[in-house]
Amino acid sequence: MIHQTDKNSIIFHNFIGGRQVEPTNGAYSRNINPANGEVIGEFADSGTDDTNSAISHAHEAQKAWAGMSTVARAAFVAKAAQILRERIDTIARDLTREEGKTIGEARGETLNGIAKLEFACSEALRITGETLPNADMGIQLYTLREPLGVVASISPWNFPFSTPAGKIGIALVAGNTVVMKPASLTPLSSVHFVQAFADAGLPAGVLNLVMGGGRTVGDALVTDNRVNGVTFTGSTAVGIGIAQKAAAHLCKTQLELGGKNPMVVMDDADIELAAKAAVDAAFLSCGQKCTATSRIIVHKDAKKALLSKMLERTASIRVGDGLDEQTYMGPVVDENQLNSILSYIEIGRKEGARLLVGGERLGDGDLANGFFISPAIFDDVESSMRIASEEIFGPVLSILTVGSFEEALETANTSEYGLSSSIFTRSLRHANAFARNVQAGVVKINGPTPGNAVNAPFGGRKQSGVNISLKQIDFFSELKSVYQKFN
Ligand code: NAD
Repeated sequence: MIHQTDKNSIIFHNFIGGRQVEPTNGAYSRNINPANGEVIGEFADSGTDDTNSAISHAHEAQKAWAGMSTVARAAFVAKAAQILRERIDTIARDLTREEGKTIGEARGETLNGIAKLEFACSEALRITGETLPNADMGIQLYTLREPLGVVASISPWNFPFSTPAGKIGIALVAGNTVVMKPASLTPLSSVHFVQAFADAGLPAGVLNLVMGGGRTVGDALVTDNRVNGVTFTGSTAVGIGIAQKAAAHLCKTQLELGGKNPMVVMDDADIELAAKAAVDAAFLSCGQKCTATSRIIVHKDAKKALLSKMLERTASIRVGDGLDEQTYMGPVVDENQLNSILSYIEIGRKEGARLLVGGERLGDGDLANGFFISPAIFDDVESSMRIASEEIFGPVLSILTVGSFEEALETANTSEYGLSSSIFTRSLRHANAFARNVQAGVVKINGPTPGNAVNAPFGGRKQSGVNISLKQIDFFSELKSVYQKFN
């Protein structure tokens, strides 16, 4: 096991070269449950030595791993997926304890991560090259797809299980070895993830876990020239820094970044459907989703009806510990995040937006020891305001009013982000024009901005990401051209 129980706490070590390893600096950091302050455990707070060691093990293991057949590699991933499926209840419970999302959402995330691993196994049978036409008929020209080598997976705290699962499954079946760095706020989900691979008998060094800070572990991964690919999900500012550092040794980077996702509601929309989608997309997971809706762009003739239904629904939201099956919205992940969200509520007020509901810290009774906030809706918001342009990453929704489809589209595209988007309309013409012209990587028609199929490309435009391939295998492999002459 990757942890040991001390009389006071549970201690979680790194997993390097097929065994649990204490960080060389002996440092551990305490993680708490954001709903109630419960101590979850002490997690390795690693330094560059540990990161270097993990890269060395991954580097040494890579040749033999790549030498196995793709089918044999996929069998390990399939076995790990099966083990994770048997442990869903434990993993989901721990995910709620460390991140705060509700147990229903945590189960959904765990199942989604497993589905991504299973999809990676099916992709293993589709890792193909091509035979190309060649002017010289005596030379057969074809391409081979080869692994990158060592891949670093750096992930955020809001989807600590399914985000790395979607990358690591494909990276492994493609023949890469991996060093996994979870966010410091949510390392326990990664411990479960790596434990399942260890229990599946994955060869030592193929998947390594190093826990610790971004500026130490993350930086050491990105700057090491033995790392051939970095798949990063997180904030735009950190992603840009990573791309710059990785470029210094021509390391391939894949960046999945922030969002400021718009939902357009036209005057011919199904208002009931749109109101439900708006509230769920803005407030589930406490708004801490890269694909959460944070801007409602509503036609002036639909506004009164939409707002009335949204406010009614928001009033019934139950905030509390995510482990309670009746809870709709859990706590924010930590105190810093809570303070940052509260500061945006103040910014919105000062900018002249009208707070219709929420935006207050909740701390009575059972909520006294957690980081809870009531879901907030601002009206009279303009695109130029900070609450409409910056990623708040919390349960704060801005309402922007427009008079036409053209104005709605222009407002949607004002953002520097371009991750997900949606439109509610009965007009095929408007739906089609929106799908073709909105600057976003994902478009939903009469559906909420979050939620993506495991087999569809997912990623953003503009400041929301780069190098999101149609097929993930394109990122985690490289092509070689072979000219074969028959003598
Ligand atoms: P973050 O950028 O602060 O951290 C992400 C990861 O990067 C963490 O593991 C962190 O430790 C590491 N890191 C931090 N500094 C680093 C550095 N200098 N070098 C290397 N690694 C470093 O993001 P977060 O607060 O954990 O997550 C929230 C952000 O993630 C939001 O902006 C959200 O939109 C984004 N996100 C995007 C997607 C997507 O698919 N586009 C999905 C989930 C979250």
